[in-house]
Amino acid sequence: MSHLAAMAVAMLLLMPFAFNESLLTVHLLGINIRANLMEGIMQMAQQGEVITASMVAFCTLGAPAALIVAIACLYVGPFLGMNLRPVLLILDRLKEWVMLDIYLVGIAVASIKVQDYADIDPGPGLVAFISLTILSLITLIYLNIEQLWQHFYPQPAQQAEPERLQVCLNCRHTGLPDKRGRCPRCHTPLYQRRRFSLQKSWAALIASIVLLIPANMLPISIIYLNGSKQQDTILSGIMSLATGNIPVAAIVFIASILVPFTKIIVLLTLLLSIHFKCEQGLKTRVRLLRIVTWVGRWSMLDLFVISLTMSLVNRDQLLAFTMGPAAFYFGSSVILTILAVEWLDSRLLWDTHATGNADYTD
Ligand SMILES: [Zn+2]
Repeated sequence: MSHLAAMAVAMLLLMPFAFNESLLTVHLLGINIRANLMEGIMQMAQQGEVITASMVAFCTLGAPAALIVAIACLYVGPFLGMNLRPVLLILDRLKEWVMLDIYLVGIAVASIKVQDYADIDPGPGLVAFISLTILSLITLIYLNIEQLWQHFYPQPAQQAEPERLQVCLNCRHTGLPDKRGRCPRCHTPLYQRRRFSLQKSWAALIASIVLLIPANMLPISIIYLNGSKQQDTILSGIMSLATGNIPVAAIVFIASILVPFTKIIVLLTLLLSIHFKCEQGLKTRVRLLRIVTWVGRWSMLDLFVISLTMSLVNRDQLLAFTMGPAAFYFGSSVILTILAVEWLDSRLLWDTHATGNADYTD
């Protein structure tokens, strides 16, 4: 706990510098422009894209701040007699939403993109941002939720026969439900299988497939250069990036096209395999689910690049960079696929394999 608290304090101290100091400085038409995270989000919001701006803000500001608050609660909570169960439940969910590492890669991509138009230098905030990212990664690796549950809410050893035991998907405790049908450790309702898991997962997946169409057809970025307007879709943006720098174009291609499409295909396969009670390749399917959960968040990269570039290049008539309507559809699609995985009860995959053949889907 004291290690976690120390890292939270260090992160809190770094945050004002990492978010408000300039990450990159651009020399454009004789003027120095500084870009930082806050500025990028504000630019997005000012241009009317409040929802897209809040997506970026949540993944880069909100989630890291919530991480610090949650650790602070765990530290002082026991002295104040707080109920720490919601804090521990949120902490577990937060892990995949803290996207500082992805934003850091976004800074690199943005600086390479802008290099065509202007000279670019690292700003003073960059060191703070890199330190903050490393600290957040260490904190997330160090954070052993199971150990924390055990520490704050230790459970007696289970005496019941294995068939009656139930695993809680929220805190991963295995035990018997209490008198009110709740998990004895985290007090969330305990079900044999998460309710409406398949329906919710399908809904999120279908919505994200639909959103992916305008996300790829409409322009995602618009550049005004000497009065002329140049629009780029996700793919054409990658193509023009590839003429200058193939490795960077490859990173953006993987994050914006390969990962979202693979994730959707994998999720479709998994949901269909549950419907058709497929028994083959169970291990592979569970592994696939873990992989798409882990890589899915990287799709937010393109939105971060756009947000930072918007604050860098904004010289009205001469040279300006804004985002197109596709950004909103793309961001929503990515978030919906993350939720589709979140809502899927992975135990449904095992059910056809179980000998009892009990049908838990409701
Ligand atoms: Zn629980």
